Amino acid sequence: MPNPIVAIVGRPNVGKSMLFNKLVGRRLSIVEDTPGVTRDRLYAETDWNGRRFTLVDTGGIEPESGDELLSFMRRQAEIAIESADVILFLTDIRTGLTASDREVANILLRSKKPVILAVNKMDSTGPTDPEIYEFYNLGLGDPYPVSALHGHGTGDILDACVSRFPPEKEEDSEEDVIKVALVGKPNVGKSSLVNRILGEERVIVSDTPGTTRDAVDSFFENKTGKYLFIDTAGMRKKSRVDDSIERYSVLRATMAIDRADVCLVMIDAGEGVTEQDTKIAGIVHDSGKAAVIVVNKWDTVEKDDHTMDRAREDIRRDLPFMTYAPVLFISAKTGRRVDRLFELINYVNDQSSMRITTGMLNDVLADATARVQPPSDKGKRLKIYYMTQTGVKPPNFVVFVNDPELFHFSYQRYLENQIRGVFGLEGTPIRMKVRRRG
Ligand code: GDP
Ligand code: GDP
Repeated sequence: MPNPIVAIVGRPNVGKSMLFNKLVGRRLSIVEDTPGVTRDRLYAETDWNGRRFTLVDTGGIEPESGDELLSFMRRQAEIAIESADVILFLTDIRTGLTASDREVANILLRSKKPVILAVNKMDSTGPTDPEIYEFYNLGLGDPYPVSALHGHGTGDILDACVSRFPPEKEEDSEEDVIKVALVGKPNVGKSSLVNRILGEERVIVSDTPGTTRDAVDSFFENKTGKYLFIDTAGMRKKSRVDDSIERYSVLRATMAIDRADVCLVMIDAGEGVTEQDTKIAGIVHDSGKAAVIVVNKWDTVEKDDHTMDRAREDIRRDLPFMTYAPVLFISAKTGRRVDRLFELINYVNDQSSMRITTGMLNDVLADATARVQPPSDKGKRLKIYYMTQTGVKPPNFVVFVNDPELFHFSYQRYLENQIRGVFGLEGTPIRMKVRRRG
């Protein structure tokens, strides 16, 4: 399970960093400076009542006032909305409610993310200062009084945050059924493969309610797992009419890809990668789905010891955006290696669901930036503060940097490769968002 992320947002000087330090206490380790990486009080992994989570301080070098402050606050809120499971919105009893507090509250409200509203600097332990009631105006529910200085109220805030975390284990009955879309141009062997698989396994064919009339999914189960092959109607009983209309078949494939966990991108061994294959693989890649490249009709190829390696190299060259996908050479006709498909489906599905802790990611980041210095331009060097994973399927990351303009594609690529080198993430695209911080 992932660590839920709690992000603290609020105006400058409300006490974000003081609260951050109070909440993580001594568990926060300040790591020595690695060139290119500043790891000060930006995030920390901690726990409360046995629930681990990552706390993020979205603050940075903050403008003091004016329009600049407002746009800074908006950006900060957006970062929090994008990356956090729970947003801790901190305000200040001494300044009272301000226009920018209202602004931020509105953005947070629209996001529908859980928000915990806290009012800081309520240092006295006596009766609650009635001025706190003003904060009900934000429409974010009960304000929690807190003193970051003394620590009063921090337990209540942590309780509130933890109560809004996603359940520790999602007990989804469908969870263990992997949805598979088989895509490829006409005549590549989709029907043959589906028929081979379904012919050999226990088959239950069912209409899926709510989908197009002719979309039929086929469920089956073997010792490797449970699978739902999506939209097998057109494959099992061929409809030449559908296939002849290219636009329709692309649309149909796109819809199948959309619903899938894993896509099998089928290539004809005799033809190699064609323009249409590139297009289909591109859709799969853009959809963020896990993928296996399946080279079919391998029985028709005359082989020597190097044929498979050469074919794999050709595919890497012709589908350069999908080098993460494993390649399997099969024959739907003879059944060769068709059984291997299931291990691979399971494998890439697991890989695309991988969660990497912020701590581990940043160890890799520190290593990567130490080895290859981030680029600089006109005397300004890219600084990567930290990165955190914000989602799975595909793995999503947010990287916080001093200046996104400096984060060139080549360095992004380098970082992606370093991450893949350590964590694998085979068979899945990854997404990296770059955010300016401070
Ligand atoms: P940030 O800009 O939101 O990160 O705010 P800081 O954590 O840097 O705090 C801003 C100022 O408020 C500092 O001078 C803190 O000492 C002070 N401060 C923060 N929390 C409290 C609090 O609970 N009580 C009091 N009295 N002062 C606080
Ligand atoms: P689809 O249009 O992608 O569903 O492709 P089909 O399954 O209808 O296959 C098209 C043609 O290729 C048919 O004549 C199949 O018999 C043939 N075919 C499919 N798979 C293989 C294979 O692995 N080896 C050989 N030699 N022929 C195959």
